[in-house]
Amino acid sequence: MRSVPKIILKVGSRASPLAKVQVDEVFALLAKAKKQIQYALTTFATKGDLDKKTSLLKNSDDNFFSDVLDDAVLAGTIDIAIHSAKDVPKVLHPGLKIFALTKALDETDALVGPCPCSQLPQGSRIGTSSLLRKEQILTINPNLKIIDIRGTIQERLKLLDAGKMDALIVATCALKRLGLHKRIKEVLPWEGTPLQGQLAVVGRQGDEESEKIFSSIDIRRQYGKVFLVGAGPGDPELFTLKGVQILRKADIVFYDYLVHKNVLDYALTAKKVDVGKRKGESTISQRDLSRLLKEAVMRGQMVVRLKGGDPLIFGRGAEEIEYLRAYHIEVEVIPGVTSATGIPSSLGIPLTARDFSSSVAFLSGHGQSELKNSQDLIPIPQAQTLVFLMGLTKLDVIVKSLSVRQWSLNTPVAIISRGTQVDEKVLVGDLSNIQQKMKQNPLPQPALIIVGQTVSLFLAKCQQKKNILYLGTYPEKYHMMGRLIHFPMIAIAGVKVKNARHFIKAVKLADTILLTSRCGVKYFFEFLAAQNFSLDILRRKIFIVIGADTEKQLNVYNFSATLVAHDETSEGLFKEMRRSLCLKGRSIVFPRSSITNPYLRQQLAKSGAAITEVVVYENTKPPYRKLPSEEVEQIIFTSPSTVHNFLADYGKIPSQWTILAKGRRTQKSLREQGYLSEILVQD
Ligand code: SAH
Repeated sequence: MRSVPKIILKVGSRASPLAKVQVDEVFALLAKAKKQIQYALTTFATKGDLDKKTSLLKNSDDNFFSDVLDDAVLAGTIDIAIHSAKDVPKVLHPGLKIFALTKALDETDALVGPCPCSQLPQGSRIGTSSLLRKEQILTINPNLKIIDIRGTIQERLKLLDAGKMDALIVATCALKRLGLHKRIKEVLPWEGTPLQGQLAVVGRQGDEESEKIFSSIDIRRQYGKVFLVGAGPGDPELFTLKGVQILRKADIVFYDYLVHKNVLDYALTAKKVDVGKRKGESTISQRDLSRLLKEAVMRGQMVVRLKGGDPLIFGRGAEEIEYLRAYHIEVEVIPGVTSATGIPSSLGIPLTARDFSSSVAFLSGHGQSELKNSQDLIPIPQAQTLVFLMGLTKLDVIVKSLSVRQWSLNTPVAIISRGTQVDEKVLVGDLSNIQQKMKQNPLPQPALIIVGQTVSLFLAKCQQKKNILYLGTYPEKYHMMGRLIHFPMIAIAGVKVKNARHFIKAVKLADTILLTSRCGVKYFFEFLAAQNFSLDILRRKIFIVIGADTEKQLNVYNFSATLVAHDETSEGLFKEMRRSLCLKGRSIVFPRSSITNPYLRQQLAKSGAAITEVVVYENTKPPYRKLPSEEVEQIIFTSPSTVHNFLADYGKIPSQWTILAKGRRTQKSLREQGYLSEILVQD
């Protein structure tokens, strides 16, 4: 039989009845975890216990209820101190460490009084010592009078019973711990103070023996972690490698509207939650969002909060970190390329340049410190280049704020809308004419405003971009050719896979996976993820793909192709396969679109391979839309279907447009319809 270690632990706490119950609770939890520990308790009067006058509404002393306990642990008079977790200083002395945080007994606030809060008559006096509770109770019933109250729970209840006030707000857990549940009139409908209901065990840094004892009751061991990740300014290829690795492992991703959808492909197995803000209108409040993050991480999930640009530049990332850290949740920040520097750089606008600018400032057009009056001027810091985020709707105020600060009216200005994206637009002018230009040619959000001489370095380039009508589904690839007007002539959608169980079995048994398009890869992997298929099984298989785009999409899911056919036709692929592989006896799975030609299946079967085809996505003609009104210089057809669908809707291709074709098959379709085209160099 194992003997129980004879440790007598020196424990400290405050002296109130509640504090003693809390000590018992911690040791009961240890006993439950099969750790019988003997202890000796010493009680202490903290600054907060001795000073009953200072209002907690105004007090900012971080260690008001822990000071002497902290000192005693540091001095070794006690081994550990047990606190209400919310009384532990936010910035702990470096010689101290939280050994354990317990699970909350109850995190809510309760009203003690004659009736629920909403029924309290006008002018009723409510006792509380917390600013948060004061604000929240007034939103439910604004006609109440708040009385600042201090003391132990029993002392406060005594004051209530003596008629010094009409009702009291206290932590539900305190009433429960003291066996006073009966006094609860109403559980209040808001989120309590962080850590409410939880207990903290604080010990000496380096005292590993004591730390080990308490680790078994430390709730943080069950927590996951939050990664605050920057998704970059728009172009998915400007996302970081670190971000990719984290998304691949995530359980849940909360993403903003600024995040490019292709970035989300990396999070194949994660649940994806859109928490985007559009036109400043949030679909979900910042507080509710923070709470969702907290709940997910407390379930033990690996949580990614994915934000546009860099997560800590004007993204309210700081608020999320502060909220989560208050609950002792681990947060790691993965930087992103901020739009503020990434967009100007991608356009070749230097924010600093010798002889032009040696300083740059980033400003918000509005945001948290919302201008009270729409005509209030924006404070302008001393800098030679200014970059305004969230400034598009405040352009008039920006121009005015600069002109009164003696910025010359001929200072160059560039407005960049949807920077680094395929439909990026740039407007260039100066402080005297930019508003007028914007009126004539309004640009959509999101947009960046750059003010300063360095803009003029770039003036020539941005006026050269041509408009290109792009009919395919992968505009990002052609981004550098000009300003793309994305006008897809094929509609792609995943389909419910028929006979999924049979297909999964075939995937398990196959030695080769054949993929002939980007979408084929995407929908195949999404199907497998939805079936909770372990992707490791695929590691032993050979992937054969057509073209670099298909290969690239395979890389998104962290797989690489064994064979890439660069002649992007079925004939070309078959030829390559025959040359490099033994086809006889090979068992091949071929996830594909609803439109395909039977050539590959027939040829592979003839060569003695067993092939299982399955439709994972469909490729249909989108409904008729009017052609975009912008002037078009070039048109890009990406497949024979784009040719047929375009001509079905619009009859002909305007003669002044230059026609570009992706691949020989597309060129052939165009030729059959009587159009000459050039093959795209990008391919
Ligand atoms: N954290 C983000 C900024 C969030 S605030 C970052 O580091 O980029 C949102 C503002 O960013 C927008 O109003 C706009 O001013 C700017 N912005 C973000 N993406 C942009 C884009 N692709 N093009 C132009 N401006 C962009």
